[in-house]
This record gives sequence, C-alpha cells and structure tokens, in this order.
Amino acid sequence: MGRAIYDPHPAGQGISVREISRLTQTVSLEDAGLWMYDLITELYPICRSMTGDGVRRTLEIIGRANPLQVHEVPSGTSVFDWTVPKEWNIRDAFIKDSRGKKIVDWAHSNLHVVGYSVPVRRVMSLAELKKHLFSLPGRPDWIPYRTSYFKEDWGFCLSHEQLTGLEEGSYEVCIDSSLHDGHMTYGELLLKGESSDEVLISTHVCHPSLCNDNLSGIAMAVQLANLLRPLHLRYSYRFLFIPATLGSIAWLSMNRERAVRVKHGLVLAGVGDPGKTTYKKSRRGDAEIDRAACHVLERSREAFEIFDFVPYGYDERQYCSPGFNLPVGVLARTPHGKYPEYHTSADNLSLVQPTFLANSLFKCLSMLNVLENNAFCTSKNPQCEPQLGRRGIFRSFSERVGNPDAEMALLWVLNYSDGDHSLLDIAERSGLTFDAVRHAADVLLDQDLLSERG
Ligand SMILES: [Zn+2]
Repeated sequence: MGRAIYDPHPAGQGISVREISRLTQTVSLEDAGLWMYDLITELYPICRSMTGDGVRRTLEIIGRANPLQVHEVPSGTSVFDWTVPKEWNIRDAFIKDSRGKKIVDWAHSNLHVVGYSVPVRRVMSLAELKKHLFSLPGRPDWIPYRTSYFKEDWGFCLSHEQLTGLEEGSYEVCIDSSLHDGHMTYGELLLKGESSDEVLISTHVCHPSLCNDNLSGIAMAVQLANLLRPLHLRYSYRFLFIPATLGSIAWLSMNRERAVRVKHGLVLAGVGDPGKTTYKKSRRGDAEIDRAACHVLERSREAFEIFDFVPYGYDERQYCSPGFNLPVGVLARTPHGKYPEYHTSADNLSLVQPTFLANSLFKCLSMLNVLENNAFCTSKNPQCEPQLGRRGIFRSFSERVGNPDAEMALLWVLNYSDGDHSLLDIAERSGLTFDAVRHAADVLLDQDLLSERG
C-alpha cells in the first residue's frame, strides 16, 4: 500500500462527542484521496468473484488496517429464498491459436474469463469457440465483464477488435478453474459507539479488476472505518464487505435481530468517477439518512442529483425489501450502468481519481456528521425571547464564528426548540447549514437556555 494511515487526531487533542464535526473540517482530503487510490491500486489485480480466494485475499488486505470478522457461509446454505452457491476459484486460463501462440491470457486481465466458468481444456474450431466469446462491438477496444453465476457454462471476454481478427483454424482452450462445495466469504467490522443503535455501511466486494465498481466503494468504506475508529461516536457503525445481492441476503437472513438496530445506512458504490455526486433514497424516502444526504448535497455548492428509491440497483434492494424496509440509501457518483466504462476494462485506474474519492468521502462524513449531531432541543425560556445581549451571546458568538448567519441561527434554534423539531428540521426550514444550527444550539446549551435529547 506504501502510504501509512495518517493520524487525523494530532497529539494532545482530546476526543469529544462532537469530534466527527471537527474531523470534517480538519481531515486532509488530499491524503485521504491518495490513500484510497493506493488501496485501489493494490486490490485492482485480484480476481474476485461471488465466492473464492479473491474475496479472501481482498478481506485480508482490508483487514490490515481494521481487523475484520471474516465469515464463511457453506455452499448449500439456505438464505431466505436463495441458496449459497458452490465456491469458484481459478488458477489460469488462455486461448492458443493453431501455432501455439497465446492470443487471450487471463494473466493479462482477469476480465478475459466469464466469472464462474466451469473448467474446460480442449481443442475446437473457431465456429465452436465463437459461441463462448463475448465482446462489445460499440467499444471495440474494451473487454466486457460477464459472469454466469446461476448457469454452469464457460466463456471468454475479449475486445471486439481481437474477436473480429480471429482466423479460421483450431484453437486450444484452457480454463483451469474449480467449482465445488466450499464457502461464500464476507467481512464485517463493528465500531462500538455510545448507543447500540447502528449505522450500516455496506459495500460489495465481488467484482474483479474494476475500479469504480467497486474498489472505490471498498476503499472509501475502509478509509471511513480508519477515520471513525478513534472517535467517541454516538452510534455504533457496522461495516459489511459482502458479495453483491447474495451477501446482503445472507447477512439479513442470519442477523434478523441485528437488522432492527440499523437506524441509518448507506450502500457505497461507484464513488470514484468524475461524475457528480448522486444519492438514491431509501424506500422510506423520508428517513433521517435521506434528509441528511439531501441537506449536505443541497448545500454543497456542487452539482448533484437525488433519486427516489427503485427496486433495482445494489444491496439496498435487499435492505429495503418490504420485510426489512431499513433506512438505507446509496451514495454514488454516476449511477451504475450510466457511464460507458461500467462493467468493462475501461473501468480502470484512470477512471477513478483521488480527488473524486476524497470528494465523496467528505460528503459521506458530512452526512454522518448530521446523524451524529442531530438532536431535539427544548427551550427553557419559551415565553418570549430570552435577552441574549445581556448574556453577551450575540457578540461573542459572532466573533467566534465570523458568520452573519450565526445570529439568525440563534433565533431559529430558540424559536423552534419546542421538543418537536430536530436541529435538522430547523436547518431545513431556516435554509441555514446544519453546522450553523448545531453550533447555535451548543451556545444556547452552554448558557442553560436549552435542554437536549438525542
Ligand atoms: Zn457491478
């Protein structure tokens, strides 16, 4: 990885409940972006799939910074309406032409082999081989990414240029893979906060050499865990590094009692491309995470897009299935399938960049900051305004914050702190930033003009 984990907490500074707020202001985004990019670079060559040693190796690398609990779910295990499949591993694969020259080599790109290809070793004609070849005519120099999880088959993916250049003749085909009863592997990490209520951070780890989908989500989740771990947190944070779809189904099936503790959640996927930030709401549509995400993006002064829930996409489909209906949204940049490089060899180390990763991380931290610091306050002086000038609040507050919104924030917080409006409600209604509202509440709490409940 090369780069050490930097310390976001300079020596001598204590850690408080509000630390995450300070973190959003002090974290070195440049270092964080480079660190995530380095991790992506290290994970890029590994051949991952829904099961197998590629996921194990990936979790091992992730686990260096954050010791993970690694779970092995046996093939054949029933998880709701699904069954954990056989485990797939691959050692080598190639196609040789009649002169014995390797023309397609898995060692050069693991996208060359259709994921879950059964073993094959024989000589065949071009016509027969072509039934097992896949390319992208519209992008003739890119290799597509394909899998055959639920039908036992085999195949190769290659560029369309290469496919159309194949000459008549016989070809030697080898896929040295195994498909047998084994396990599906996933990783889990819990950071304990004050409350047993949880924030779920879920990211899929089953794609081979593809950077945005989803080494970007993996790197961001790991970096997030690095940053949050030393903090005194209000919520507990559960990180899941899982194969897409079947991983979340398996986790939900085996953790029904834990799932009810999930009060907020984010699926992280595709967070490193140059596109604008997007947020897909949970099925509930008005969960606190949905409102926190909208608040942060609307005040970011950058382009963004917010989508309502639809029942296709990533693991939010399972978390938001009606029997769970968890408040889990999706933080991404360009949505999956909407960028040309998606599921092709062009989703590589040039598509994702440290600056986009860092930008996504910052927005995620800002959303978590809202969740960590949101509260219901009640004014202790609700009959007419308290006299703030007498308490010296206006002047000292303005000097400290240097922000003309600061006095407005005091008035908004005093007026709406009736026990029914949260600080996020007040931020939404006033048009002020959440931080300005939170800061005003802290000043008023100091002056014993408010009481707070989480
Ligand atoms: Zn994908």
